Amino acid sequence: MHDHKGWPAAWRSPELKKNYDVVIIGAGGHGLATAYYLAKKHAVKNIAVLDKGWLGGGNTGRNTQVTRSNYYWPQSAAFFDHSLKLYEGLGRELNFNVMLSQRGVLTLAHSVHDLEGMRRWANAIRINKVDAEILTPAEVKKLVPMINLDCRFPVHGGFIQRRAGISRHDAVAWGFARAASSLGVDIIQQCEVTGFNIQSGRVTGVNTTRGTVEAEKISFSVAGNTSHIAKMAGFRVPITSMQLQAMVSEPIKPCLHTVLTSSVIHMYVSQSDRGELVFGGGADVYNSYAQRGGIPLLQENVAALLELIPAFSRLRLMRQWAGITDITPDTTPLMGHTPVQNLYFSGGWGTGGYKAIPAGGDTMAYTIANDRPHPLICDFGLDRFESGKLVDEGAASGVAH
Ligand SMILES: Cc1cc2nc3c(=O)[nH]c(=O)nc-3n(C[C@H](O)[C@H](O)[C@H](O)COP(=O)(O)OP(=O)(O)OC[C@H]3O[C@@H](n4cnc5c(N)ncnc54)[C@H](O)[C@@H]3O)c2cc1C
Repeated sequence: MHDHKGWPAAWRSPELKKNYDVVIIGAGGHGLATAYYLAKKHAVKNIAVLDKGWLGGGNTGRNTQVTRSNYYWPQSAAFFDHSLKLYEGLGRELNFNVMLSQRGVLTLAHSVHDLEGMRRWANAIRINKVDAEILTPAEVKKLVPMINLDCRFPVHGGFIQRRAGISRHDAVAWGFARAASSLGVDIIQQCEVTGFNIQSGRVTGVNTTRGTVEAEKISFSVAGNTSHIAKMAGFRVPITSMQLQAMVSEPIKPCLHTVLTSSVIHMYVSQSDRGELVFGGGADVYNSYAQRGGIPLLQENVAALLELIPAFSRLRLMRQWAGITDITPDTTPLMGHTPVQNLYFSGGWGTGGYKAIPAGGDTMAYTIANDRPHPLICDFGLDRFESGKLVDEGAASGVAH
């Protein structure tokens, strides 16, 4: 092997067949993980994953890689901690280094009341058997020496999940793609799904820009496009689509050794292994399908970062981008069955579905293979908007990550 030439392709590029057992729409992390676990754990071999662009080119390749399980409600904690545990073994499972770095996620409290709420949150998380610790301002300062504790909203402490951190998002997509492909999954890029064939309430195939494909079962994981695909299948979803942006600075020497987040100042930041500061805040405040993000919010994100760590003001911004996030009213995902027979979906991941990729794939594979929801996602179905049994995680995803 010389000059990095002659490497074998990591995944196959097969021709699209006319018939599959399962077709998955969307080659993001969720679609690829679902295909992988279907082939690996449920012995379904004739699977296709279709994507209108390139694999990992949606939100999976656009996020800020924060991986955590500090959710409030027991059903969320169980699901997201399952995901974090899968992340902990994912490099070995996929034989692909996903660069998981469990450097902790520190959430700041900016008032006595904020800290009290956080204490309740941390206690609930611990009852859910997930790690969480309250920190004093001095402990926060020790962890992040550059922080300005006396900022406009002074820091009263915070709470940390030490098992949380970041991992490499491209590696997660590529690792699942390579492993799925080697199990026989056909990954078809540049193949847009334009409609469904539905007979007597049951889906039988999809129309694509490369022709019609028949399938026993179909699932879609299309992040910012969930409403569009649902509309093609004839049902509506309670989803609002908004741009979420992120940005990176020029690289500097290691100086930030945890993921720092604040819901009050509204920003979060980590330092990548290349030295860049990766940061963002909330979603742009109007609905859009443009993957750009507006300048006013970019400015707010930078201002929020500098409020907490003024020393970063001398850095230059290198890149900025956005993805379209599908946000549900209770900010909990929508997973499982759709009103159409044999059509399943996993969406509504909003600003926080990267951390959910392994568990999302695992539980959706089970759901599709057995035609019943995996026990961990029973409460995440569309029917909760009829029953009113919402899983309100607004606070857990108050800052996008
Ligand atoms: C800026 C930003 C920061 C984020 N930060 C974090 C974070 O730190 N931690 C975290 O947990 N989450 C984060 N998220 C959220 C996370 O990225 C998403 O929830 C997650 O990646 C969703 O994965 P997915 O596989 O469902 O979707 P995607 O990765 O978006 O994949 C969906 C795929 O569907 C394809 N598709 C769409 N329509 C069609 C069609 N008609 N036919 C065929 N294919 C189609 C698209 O091309 C795309 O490749 C962030 C998101 C953004 C935008």
